[in-house]
Amino acid sequence: HPTLLWFRRDLRLSDHPALLAALARGGPVIPVFIHDPLVEGLGAAPKWRLALSLDDLASRLEGTGSRLILRRGEALGVLRELVRETGAGAVFWSRAYDPDSVTRDKAVKAALTGDGLEAGSHAGHLLFEPWSVETGSGSFYKVYTPFWNAVRDRSVDAPAAAPESIPAPVSWPQSDALSDWRMGAAMNRGADICGPWQRVGEAAALGRLGGFVSGAIGDYRERRDLPGEDGTSSLSENLALGEISPRRCWYAGQRALHEGRAGAETWLKELVWREFAYHLLWHTPRIVDANWRSEWDAFPWNRDETRPEVIAWKQGRTGVPFVDAAMREMYVTGRMHNRARMIVASYLTKHLMSHWRIGQAWFESCLTDWDPASNAMGWQWSAGSGPDATPYFRVFNPETQAAKFDPESVYLDRWIAEGRREPAPEALSYFKAIPRSWGLSPGDPYPAPIVGLKEGRARALAAYEAAKA
Ligand code: FAD
Repeated sequence: HPTLLWFRRDLRLSDHPALLAALARGGPVIPVFIHDPLVEGLGAAPKWRLALSLDDLASRLEGTGSRLILRRGEALGVLRELVRETGAGAVFWSRAYDPDSVTRDKAVKAALTGDGLEAGSHAGHLLFEPWSVETGSGSFYKVYTPFWNAVRDRSVDAPAAAPESIPAPVSWPQSDALSDWRMGAAMNRGADICGPWQRVGEAAALGRLGGFVSGAIGDYRERRDLPGEDGTSSLSENLALGEISPRRCWYAGQRALHEGRAGAETWLKELVWREFAYHLLWHTPRIVDANWRSEWDAFPWNRDETRPEVIAWKQGRTGVPFVDAAMREMYVTGRMHNRARMIVASYLTKHLMSHWRIGQAWFESCLTDWDPASNAMGWQWSAGSGPDATPYFRVFNPETQAAKFDPESVYLDRWIAEGRREPAPEALSYFKAIPRSWGLSPGDPYPAPIVGLKEGRARALAAYEAAKA
C-alpha cells in the first residue's frame, strides 16, 4: 500500500523525517500538497512565495522519479479521496504548531486513524519540540536567555541527505495545475518587482547557507544590525517554508563555531529565537491574537486601520525616513531587515499608538518570510505586550537609530527617491510596485512628519502611565 506524504511547510527533500518514514515503510510514496482553507487564507506575499516554492519542489521531486500531486479542498476530504483512489495505507506529514494547523491536524489524524490508516506527524520544522524544553519546575520558558541556556548544549541529530530516488506508484492520481490556483493573484507586484530578491527552493537555500557560514558569519555580530548591508543569512523565507531544515542550519553554525568564526554563536542564538517563538506559540497559542500580558487590554490602542497615520505607515510616507525606507523595502522585496522591523513596529505601536495587530496583519500580507510564531512574537515584543518584551517606555528613536546603524545613509538612499537627484533603482521600483490608487510619484516632495518624534513619544508614555495607574 502506498504512503501519502502530505507536504505543507516542509518543502524540501533532504533532512525530512516524514519523507524518510514514508520511504522506510516500503512501497510507493505519493507526495501531495493541498490548497486547503489555511492556504487560501495566507497573505498576498507569502501565498505568492509559496507557489514559487511548490514549483521548485515539484521539479526536485521529478528528479527523483516522483511527482507532486496538487489538490484543492478541505484537507481531510482530499486525503480520504486520495486514499480511495490510490489504496494508500498511510498518511505522513511534518508537524505544525500554530493553533489553526494544530486543530486541523488533530481532526485529520483522528479521522484517518479511525479509517484504519497509519496516520501521523513527524518532527522536522524545529530543532527542539516545544514540549521537550522545560524549566526546573516543569513549566515552559517565558524568557529567552534561560531558554537558550537550556538548549544550547543539547545534542541534535545530524541532518539526513535527500533520497536519490522515491518509489513511484504504478499510476499517478490526477493533479491540479499550479497555475490554475492563481496563488499570485493578490500580489500585484509579483515576479517583476519582488522576484529578483527571492532565493527560492532547497538548492538556493543550501547555497546561501554555505556562502554565509564561510563568509558573512565571521562578522555577523557587528554587521547584522546594519540594514544597508548584506550581513545576515536571509534564510528566513527558506526556513519559514521548510526549504531548508533548522538542523542543517544548526550544524553549519556549529561547525563555524568550532572553526572559531567569531559571529557563529550570535547566529546560533538567532536560530534559537525562532525556536523560542515556537515554544511560546505552542504553550500560549493566544500569542497570535491577544495581548500576551492581559493588562495591555486596558491600553488605549488605536484599532482603526483607516486612520491616515496608519495608511501613511503602511505606504511608507510617515515623513520619518528610516520608517519609510523599511516599509518600502518590505513592500517591494517581501523582506525587511530585522533592525528595521523593530523600528517600524516601535513607531506604529508607540509613536502612533496603534495596535500591534494592525502591524502583524500588514506584515502577514507583505512578508515572503511570514511565519506565524516569529511574527506574533516580534510584534508583541515590540509593543511591550509580550513575554520577555522590550518595555513600553523604551521607544526607539528612528533618527538616532539611523545615525547609529545607517551612518552613511546607504539604506535610506536605497529606498527613498523623493528629493534625490538620481534616485536608486530600488527607490524607483517602489513607485512601480505600488497601486496607482495610492497616488504617489517619485517627483513628489518628501512628506513632512505625520507626528513629531518627541511629541509622539511623550504622548505614548503619558498614555502608558495613565493605563498603568
Ligand atoms: P539571520 O540574522 O541570518 O538569522 C537566522 C535565522 O534566525 C533567521 O532566518 C530566522 O529564522 C531566525 N531569527 C533571526 N532573528 C529572529 C527573531 N528576532 N525572531 C525569530 N527568529 C529569528 N521572522 C520571520 O522569519 N518571519 C516573520 O514573520 C517575522 N516577523 C517579525 C516581526 C517583527 C515585528 C520583528 C521585530 C521580527 C520578525 N521576524 C520574523 C524576525 C526577524 O526579523 C527575521 O527572522 C530576520 O530579519 C530574518 O533575516 P535573516 O534570515 O537574514 O536572519
